[in-house]
Order: sequence, then structure tokens, then C-alpha cells
Amino acid sequence: MKSSDLTPLSLENQPETTRILQKCPVCAAEYAGDAMQIVHKMQDMHLVHVTCSACKNNMLAYIMVSYMGLRSVGLLTDLDRLDVERLADADIFELDALLEIQNLLQNEPSRFIELILKQ
Ligand SMILES: [Zn+2]
Repeated sequence: MKSSDLTPLSLENQPETTRILQKCPVCAAEYAGDAMQIVHKMQDMHLVHVTCSACKNNMLAYIMVSYMGLRSVGLLTDLDRLDVERLADADIFELDALLEIQNLLQNEPSRFIELILKQ
């Protein structure tokens, strides 16, 4: 019996998922097989954490299944795997907020500073 016979069909076994998370966006090194970890699973959304073995950069990726197919949003993070796990256990909404902040920082840093200054 092949080991794949025992594996339930889930997102992490889809070739598309591994294709998205194949290479480090920073140094373009290929991720090691055990670099990717599913941190949080919901029905059609997975939160995945990957650490590059070459440059040690961490990336968080949302992978969503929709009727359009797989979508992914990845961003570099300072959070290591344990941080992310802690957050995921605590409250997924915290994690959402965190990702939003990181997203903002990455894409619109001036907007982020604006928001902070308004507090
Ligand atoms: Zn790298």
C-alpha cells in the first residue's frame, strides 16, 4: 500500500498549494519539504507558515479555496513558527488583525503611520 492511500484529501496535498509555496520570495531558494507548516485550518482557508532554510526569512500565507480556484496571499513576517502558533491558538481574529497590519506596513507604510498618529 502506498502511503498516499492513507492521506485524506486536503488542501496541503494539492499540487497547487505547494506550487505557490515553492520558492522563497527573498532569496529564491526552494523551500525544504518540511519548511511549510499549516498553522490554522478552516473550511476553505489555510494559514501556512514557511521558514526559508537558506535565508531564515519567515513567510505567512493564506491559502483560500474558492469557486475561482486557489488563491494565496503571502507576506514576509518576523514571526517565527511558535509565535504564529500561539496567535492561532489564542484567537484567529487577532491573527487577522495582525496580518492586516503587516499588509498595511508592506504596501502602504505611510498610511500605517497615519493611522498610528491618529490614535
Ligand atoms: Zn530565502
